[in-house]
Amino acid sequence: MARPSWDECFLEVAHVIAKRSTCLRVPSGVGCVLVSAEHTILSAGYAGSMRGAPHCTEVGCLLIDGGCKRTVHAEQNAIASAAANGVSLRGATAYVTLSPCRACAMMLHNAGVARIVYATEYRIVDHLDELRGLGVDIPRPASAIASSVAAAPTADCAE
Ligand SMILES: [Zn+2]
Ligand SMILES: [Zn+2]
Repeated sequence: MARPSWDECFLEVAHVIAKRSTCLRVPSGVGCVLVSAEHTILSAGYAGSMRGAPHCTEVGCLLIDGGCKRTVHAEQNAIASAAANGVSLRGATAYVTLSPCRACAMMLHNAGVARIVYATEYRIVDHLDELRGLGVDIPRPASAIASSVAAAPTADCAE
């Protein structure tokens, strides 16, 4: 078996953590793992309810303006877990199964996360360019590069 890179390894961990998710809006779940520059796992989170509150799987989603407000996003839970345990996220890398929403991306940046690696683009990703402009390292996943190449007009390339 080929030895995975650190990015492949921690993205796989994020996918395992995602299986704990309880919001019905994203059937695949969402997982986030925060990792130090020395490749140590600092904290992890999945999409789920507030501590002690019922989950969407038990009582359904709390839909307001088309989104579920019952759920704490995976990235927010990972940041909150680090805060609860007094763990600094300065210089950390966030591994997420789906690209973070604007609020989560802003929180990751302000928490000191220097790099965001995600597996799949999810809905709006324009805000990620804004973060790239602020110096956050956000590589484009191979799947996104492949789809943008596929979507590009072929006439420009024709010889
Ligand atoms: Zn929900
Ligand atoms: Zn989010």
